Amino acid sequence: MTATATRVLVLNSGSSSVKYQLLDMNPDSRGGPAAGTRLAVGLVERIGEETSRLAHTPLATGGDKRETEGPIADHGAALKAVAAELSADGLGLDSPQLAAIGHRVVHGGLKFTAPTVIDDAVLAEIERLVPVAPLHNPANITGIRTAQALRPDLPQVAVFDTAFHTTMPEYAARYAIDVATADAHRIRRYGFHGTSHAYVSRKTAELLGKDPSEVNVIVLHLGNGASASAVAGGRCVDTSMGLTPLEGLVMGTRSGDIDPAVTFHLKRVAGMSEDDVDVLLNKKSGLVGLCGDNDMREIRRRIDEGDERAELAFDIYIHRLKKYIGAYTAVLGRVDAVAFTAGVGENAAPVRAAALAGLEEMGLAVDADLNAVRSGEPRLISPECARVAAAVVPTDEELEIAQQTYALVSA
Ligand code: AMP
Repeated sequence: MTATATRVLVLNSGSSSVKYQLLDMNPDSRGGPAAGTRLAVGLVERIGEETSRLAHTPLATGGDKRETEGPIADHGAALKAVAAELSADGLGLDSPQLAAIGHRVVHGGLKFTAPTVIDDAVLAEIERLVPVAPLHNPANITGIRTAQALRPDLPQVAVFDTAFHTTMPEYAARYAIDVATADAHRIRRYGFHGTSHAYVSRKTAELLGKDPSEVNVIVLHLGNGASASAVAGGRCVDTSMGLTPLEGLVMGTRSGDIDPAVTFHLKRVAGMSEDDVDVLLNKKSGLVGLCGDNDMREIRRRIDEGDERAELAFDIYIHRLKKYIGAYTAVLGRVDAVAFTAGVGENAAPVRAAALAGLEEMGLAVDADLNAVRSGEPRLISPECARVAAAVVPTDEELEIAQQTYALVSA
């Protein structure tokens, strides 16, 4: 890597999509853009279909968003299309300024506790984890292979969604099932959204003017997928997602916590197949299963119109959230802050107000005026007198991946 190589391309490869951001991590802001400056962002969707779509915004040149539609056959073609868009802005992947490519990898199992430079052995291990992340790791692997083919000389770094949670104590990570069976099949709670929980818990400490080691934070990552975590002194001690991202909070389309016997019942009594149950719990449950909508804006609009199904869905969502806030307060013993993040957490003031309503005895309260403020900045929403701070802390998983990637390759 040359001294001028300060750019990191962050790739988040899904089964039919690739999200990307090119960031400059220049550590010397006197000689160029500030560390973390976004040069270009974009998304390729519906890969493999006739109606694939690429949306690219060249932030470095201040240019407008460019959108192209037309068939993009696979991830290889998608990444080539992205490379062409970047080249058109003078930001091509062949640039000597590119230091590394950082990949979001969903499942790192127990082995990967930190960002890791990808070699054949690392790739083989990510592949070995496919049985515990069948929806995500294969797409991540495809993204890595494609990027390697494009720039074989460049360091490729895997940043794992599970890594932040590997500090969970054994008693929080293990399910109370037969140990031999669990170990034989690597069944345990891994947790996900770790990059977001790491970033947001650190930013929350910053907002409180403290070092992460000094504070205990409950992070509520409420997006279409949703998870909570208990972070003690910068280390994750519990999180709501488990072996897969299905456990825990009520999500856009996932049920979250459920009696596992429901699945036997669906198979034995309702005659559903394994796959039917999988689709039901992952894609047709949560808010969408309860009321037909998974967008919190739409749910709030329906509630305002007196829609009882939407209201019940909202109440179930909030009830689950409150249970986790209570549980993690008990786990942490002392809580300094509750931080809301991701699409719902950052934007839905009624969710934040409802989740903390009635928790005054636990030191939690919401100031209605502060909660109504709309801003992209980390901010407090609790009154000054509250014993526990409540905060909105926008997440930035791409920046976190870029920071971790650059730190690793420039060390
Ligand atoms: P994410 O997965 O973090 O992108 O979050 C996506 C979800 O955030 C959407 O499904 C919506 O439910 C929610 N969301 C986004 N914007 C708003 C908003 N302005 N108000 C309420 N909810 C929102």
